Amino acid sequence: MQLLPSDRAIALVDGNNFYVSCERVFNPKLIGKPLVILSNNDGCIVSRSQEARNLEIPMGMPFFKAKHLVNSHGLQWLSSNYTLYGDMSARMMSVLSEFSPEQEIYSIDECFLDLSKMMPNEDLVTYGKTIKERVHQYLGLPTCVGIGPTKTLAKLANHIAKKNPSFGGVFAWAALNAQEQTAWLKKIAVGEIWGVGRRINENLKEMGITTVYELACANPEMIRRRFSVVLARTVAELQGISCLAISDLEDMPRKQQIISSKSFGQPIQDLAPLQEAVASYICRAAEKLRAQDSVCHYVTVFVRTNPFAANQAQYRNQITIPLSIASADSRRLAKAALFGLSRIYQLGYTYKKAGVILSDIHSAQQHQEDLFTQINQQKSAQTMQTMDHLNHLFGANTIILASTGATKKNSHFWRTRANYKSQRFTTRWDELPLAHT
Ligand SMILES: [Mg+2]
Repeated sequence: MQLLPSDRAIALVDGNNFYVSCERVFNPKLIGKPLVILSNNDGCIVSRSQEARNLEIPMGMPFFKAKHLVNSHGLQWLSSNYTLYGDMSARMMSVLSEFSPEQEIYSIDECFLDLSKMMPNEDLVTYGKTIKERVHQYLGLPTCVGIGPTKTLAKLANHIAKKNPSFGGVFAWAALNAQEQTAWLKKIAVGEIWGVGRRINENLKEMGITTVYELACANPEMIRRRFSVVLARTVAELQGISCLAISDLEDMPRKQQIISSKSFGQPIQDLAPLQEAVASYICRAAEKLRAQDSVCHYVTVFVRTNPFAANQAQYRNQITIPLSIASADSRRLAKAALFGLSRIYQLGYTYKKAGVILSDIHSAQQHQEDLFTQINQQKSAQTMQTMDHLNHLFGANTIILASTGATKKNSHFWRTRANYKSQRFTTRWDELPLAHT
């Protein structure tokens, strides 16, 4: 069976243990040590070095359960530093964009590159190695490169590259003959495929499909009837029929809803710190809204107590405030959100979480107003543009709304706990790494 045609070549480049690797770039002492990165509020483990994986620390484990390894195995830990990871990600994507005119950024540390017609198949592994080396040379980040005729097969190739160090971090289906390809597909469990979750995995097993090869040989029409069109597409992709196109970032649909929400570092009872938290979430959400050149019509605010604190009085509520004119102006959105908050806030509860949701989102360009509001809109857009620009240039929170708590009096309540955070090495002048003291 000729499984994989070779007229297309798509690469998936994926950072290895990305958060851990970003930290190690700026703190080489962490290299070779078991290291974990913690989620918001230093709760759970969200990234592990290979050494930490070797200690059998599972992804998502609450940190307190791994704490005994600090003494016994020298386990190191850090709070997550998304400012650093986000910036390193942007740099990595920019380096990768030079390897193909078609790039789709899939997550913070993964992107697809269309390499079709860029070079003959026999050179794909060499090209993959160049990509990997360039990212390492420019940024110090380790990656793996998987290359296949479809996105699903590129993902699978990346998985093989990660799990089998003998390939030197680059695996291309095209470098294998048909028998070798089949042997690999027979070796990998079907659950490793992109889009095959636990439930689908179990149902497939009942049908006697346990390996990737068996799924690749299945009849897509039968799969569509028994499962979904999505899984049928996966089967086609495994057979080398490309169903998922590389999409440019610009073509990606605008987010229809933007949510910004977090659990507080400490429980909150008073209105003032809640107001600061909500205003700060609004600013973050509004920035995302402007980044996709959109405006929204509705602002939802929600608050809730801690449902796990059984001995506390429980309360949760939310309210949606319509805006008379769609907007992306942080000040207008904050005003609406704070008004909403004043309506749902109740004295006497201990709050654990709040958040905002922006909805009914439209393109800012299509949005038409009458002449007078239009003039105001332009002024507002310019102010926001200046604010975003300064915050981008000089670091987040250079310009903030006073309602987010310029005095910092209350911020220790609602700011997320992150007691072990590294510096924002690449985005703040005052936090640059020191070469010499
Ligand atoms: Mg990764």
